[in-house]
Amino acid sequence: MRIVLMGAPGSGKGTQAQRLVTELGIPQISTGDILRQHRKDGTELGKRADAIMAAGKLVDDATMLDIIRDRVAQPDAQRGFILDGFPRTQAQAEGLATLLLELGTPIDAVVLFEVGAAELVRRISGRRTCSLCNKVFNIYSAPPSSPASDCVAGSSEHQLFQRKDDQEDTVKERLRVYEANTRPVLSYYSDSGLLRTVSAEGSPDEITKRLRAALAASGAGASTNKARPARRAAARKRAATRKPAAARARARKSVRRKSASKTARKTAKPAKAKRRVPRKPAKRVAKRKSRAPRRKSKR
Ligand code: AMP
Repeated sequence: MRIVLMGAPGSGKGTQAQRLVTELGIPQISTGDILRQHRKDGTELGKRADAIMAAGKLVDDATMLDIIRDRVAQPDAQRGFILDGFPRTQAQAEGLATLLLELGTPIDAVVLFEVGAAELVRRISGRRTCSLCNKVFNIYSAPPSSPASDCVAGSSEHQLFQRKDDQEDTVKERLRVYEANTRPVLSYYSDSGLLRTVSAEGSPDEITKRLRAALAASGAGASTNKARPARRAAARKRAATRKPAAARARARKSVRRKSASKTARKTAKPAKAKRRVPRKPAKRVAKRKSRAPRRKSKR
């Protein structure tokens, strides 16, 4: 199952993606996280992306597509994945479609998280990440528990920090970039009938419920996935054993020929009936003729 989560920075895609990972057993692919890891590791790409990310701009499409091509080829992504933060431009969306077409694994659902501008700013400015376990919190709406029982690094407290690009000036630029480059991608997906929109305001649990409903409506939900394995396997078998286009065209032609000869046989019957019709009146006329002279002779 391949899911794309779309939405402005701060719309909660990351939080919901983490929940889906547990529910569906497929990985979250966050291009922001991948770039941050490169930065941390000091790779060439990390160094190149550093200034771009700090300014709230976008890393070039070719680089991003290379990252995605490598990531979806990894073993844990063979059953599906949740894309978070990709695609962000029309070129990325088209590149992704081409890549998945080559792999024969198309996108199952695209979900847009919709949040008002004021709420976006509040969420981004309150966002903190644990430098030990990478978990994301919000000091206003989802603060970490203290002491921390869920820090995978085993620490009794999360070590929170604010991302450089979550600071006010960069946030404004990221929102501008989203409107200019990413919003147009939404019509690309709504035109192809894949896009579902959920309101991403309210508690994380409420949003998860809406997300599940949107995925189920797209045929990509967790319950749908469990309930219909046989049907999906049969559909895959049908697709795999489908005749090539030329053979299908020949089969259609032969069906048309058969039905044409059937019609010809049907139209032939009324013709026989027609031949019988004149015989009856002919007999009656003959009878009347034969009676007529007898009456005359009586007079
Ligand atoms: P995120 O954590 O998804 O908000 O991403 C953080 C930053 O990484 C963005 O502001 C961009 O600079 C960069 N980035 C992440 N994903 C992409 C992408 N798909 N295309 C271009 N730049 C990206």
